[in-house]
Amino acid sequence: MEKIFVKNMNATFICPACGFSAIRDVSRFMDVKSTIHIRCLCKHCSHQYRVLLERRSFVRKSTSFTGRYKSRNNIQSQGVMTVLDISRSGLKMQILIPQKLSAGDVLELEFRLDRGSCPLIHREGIVKNILGGKTIGLEFSSSNHTDALGPYLAFL
Ligand SMILES: [Zn+2]
Repeated sequence: MEKIFVKNMNATFICPACGFSAIRDVSRFMDVKSTIHIRCLCKHCSHQYRVLLERRSFVRKSTSFTGRYKSRNNIQSQGVMTVLDISRSGLKMQILIPQKLSAGDVLELEFRLDRGSCPLIHREGIVKNILGGKTIGLEFSSSNHTDALGPYLAFL
């Protein structure tokens, strides 16, 4: 079964028969804990199909990991950070001193999980938004998490 991902409460449904795609608001499914199968009717060719709604990229877990960040674009932008929340697609972090960062900057991140042996995680994040100079939203450059972060996110 086709898996589809949620972004900003929307999911893109692609008809397996004709390739017609439609973006639908799936916000009403976001509070449901179980796996969600959605039955779709293609508006283009009337083919009926089912998809599995993958909400993990949406679900954010509140955290308080501490770690370090370092900018690739501006060597001087580095310091300590606290990870406020995390999801499969990215994280939100708080820094102590506002930095000259802008959307699109690439940061090298290093933080420890708060579970088990508290493994050290290394990631690359792309700055998406900056709130008030100190709270930064980042998107991971890859959503494949083959280290300890994968299982961590699976049990959100
Ligand atoms: Zn179709």
